[in-house]
Amino acid sequence: MKVFKFGGASVKDASAVKNIASILRNYAPKQLVVVVSAMGKTTNALEKVLHAWFNNDENLQQLLNDVITYHQQVIADLFPDKNHLVYFKTDLLFGELEGHLCTPPTPNFDFEYDQVVSFGELISTTIVSEYLVSQGFNCQWFDVRNLIRTDDTWRDAGVDWVVTTEQVTKALTPFLNSNSPETHIALTQGFIGATGSGHTTTLGREGSDYSAAILSHVLNATEMTVWKDVPGVLNADPKFFQNTTLINHISYREAIELTYYGASVIHPKTIKPLQNKSIPLKVRSFVSPASPGTTISAATSEDDAIPSIILKSNQVLLSFSPRDFSFIAEENLSQIFSALAASGIRVNMMQVSAISFSICMDENERKMEKLTALLGEKFAYRYNTGLQLITVRHYDQLTISRLLDGRQLIVEQRSRSTAQFAVLEKS
Ligand code: ASP
Ligand code: MG
Repeated sequence: MKVFKFGGASVKDASAVKNIASILRNYAPKQLVVVVSAMGKTTNALEKVLHAWFNNDENLQQLLNDVITYHQQVIADLFPDKNHLVYFKTDLLFGELEGHLCTPPTPNFDFEYDQVVSFGELISTTIVSEYLVSQGFNCQWFDVRNLIRTDDTWRDAGVDWVVTTEQVTKALTPFLNSNSPETHIALTQGFIGATGSGHTTTLGREGSDYSAAILSHVLNATEMTVWKDVPGVLNADPKFFQNTTLINHISYREAIELTYYGASVIHPKTIKPLQNKSIPLKVRSFVSPASPGTTISAATSEDDAIPSIILKSNQVLLSFSPRDFSFIAEENLSQIFSALAASGIRVNMMQVSAISFSICMDENERKMEKLTALLGEKFAYRYNTGLQLITVRHYDQLTISRLLDGRQLIVEQRSRSTAQFAVLEKS
């Protein structure tokens, strides 16, 4: 049994959906779970709808219509028969979404976010599943809200593994194991789940990889594959670098390190459920599906084969020094760390000297205000904005020289495997 995950770009229009059918024709094992994200940029579009709804914005109807017509175009391109059931099913979903937006929202923004934004996945999976059935696949649509149980941390829901295991096993196993000769495809939504009281939740942006990992873990899959618009895990983001190299094989540990420093190729939460059961993760290209892509597994032998580069923009360097000139020692540090935690700040790099402590963090005014309010009495602080953080795993001098050429370096830090540089953003 394998799990395939298809992200937004792989279902962005009718020809993309047709391409999925051809991948499944060539690469589907006999038992397969397919996890699908919202189409193209639908999640962003639904976020706009949500903001318009909360702000009583007159563009609400227009923004909603844009989402609906985008999907209607995909449907029209895939299903020439206007009486096909898919028209009825998706109209129901559009109507449900429209109905939800007819009355004013409750004050709980994060709750409403999950209720609205989740429609992207419900709509996309309905379309893809109907298309696969129309092409002769033995495909069944499952509502993941009956499979993945979460708590009610809206927009970042935590998984209840016990109930999820029970629900997934009960619902999916009979279908996947049923006794017909052809491939069995259980198709479901990424990114969403539900609470015990049946309210829809989401697992965090780009969370569909995590959904696929949850299902892989629970079903003891032999392998999980994420199909992407890049050839696999590259040593740098092709959006920013012309010459990138495909990494054939890395360990779970290295993959976690890369995502920790900001590599966006897979969602950071994806690895743990797979690692815990030694399920290999493949990252492959839906553009050239015959290529092997990258395998992420327990083997570590190729981890340091080439330097990997990760860029994080919109960084701030914040430095604290005790007003009484005391050393930065354990007591000061513990105060600083609890203030960081209380402000919800993630530290991307830190540096300690005798009387100063510096961190690099994502720019976020609200969090910075909270932090400086907590620490300002005891510590003087300074900050630099407009920075970029460059992280190089398995660095060599040539790579570093190239990256820093012409850049103004503010802080640097090196360990044996990782070098980090906070530099001024290119103007
Ligand atoms: N559709 C969701 C998002 O764009 C989840 C995902 O694509 O993984 O964040
Ligand atoms: Mg996506």
